[in-house]
Amino acid sequence: MACTDSLHPQVGVIFATVSAVPVEHVDELQAYAQAVSGCTRCRLAQGRTQVVFGAGNPHADLMFVGEAPGFHEDKQGLPFVGQAGKLLEKLLAQIGLARSDVYIANVLKCRPPGNRDPQPDEIEACESHLFRQIELIEPTVVATLGNFATKLLSGRPLGITKVHGQEQETTLGGRKVLLFPLYHPAAALYTPTMLKILESDFARLPELLGRSVEPIVEAQPELTLVGSRPPAEQLGLF
Ligand code: SF4
Repeated sequence: MACTDSLHPQVGVIFATVSAVPVEHVDELQAYAQAVSGCTRCRLAQGRTQVVFGAGNPHADLMFVGEAPGFHEDKQGLPFVGQAGKLLEKLLAQIGLARSDVYIANVLKCRPPGNRDPQPDEIEACESHLFRQIELIEPTVVATLGNFATKLLSGRPLGITKVHGQEQETTLGGRKVLLFPLYHPAAALYTPTMLKILESDFARLPELLGRSVEPIVEAQPELTLVGSRPPAEQLGLF
């Protein structure tokens, strides 16, 4: 397995950006993406151009989870390709990383009509796709972007304004990970104060990536979340 280290220019420490994911997991991830491309589990299948499974480095230590594809993502089949994606790339560059160093996915894989909020039953239908991605990618840090991803993966109802920048250890995919809630770049685009907070929280990522996390908690055939999963309720952006 190729392993790339990055030198973080601000803190001057070397931290690994990729993990020792078994090669068969990469094949499985590709096969799973292929399978999900035909998913019709929820109503969003009807209006999509294509499933936006996720993109990036399948060995990434750092995984981002956003909300759902928007107009451009739906057309191109890639997550975070619009203005929010540009901001995400800029934020990554500020900590010495590129998009190719990380993996980016969303809670929902298909675009809600008119970019409306995800509905509870849609999240419930789609969540196993995200959990399987996490299981196969084996990130050490999962940065949730906005309320939907944060509430789903933390298992707690607290909104992003309360929990942003506060890492918490949890178990995803049978492994311990650091969950790190961040404001959604789309929300920060037009709100300077929120952007400053996002930049400040983002700057902590190198430190979190440098922390040692126990690689395997226990062998589990299926991914399980520690704690109760929140009801798939309407979560709201903030
Ligand atoms: S949003 Fe998820 S569950 Fe719904 S059709 Fe798309 S991939 Fe399937």
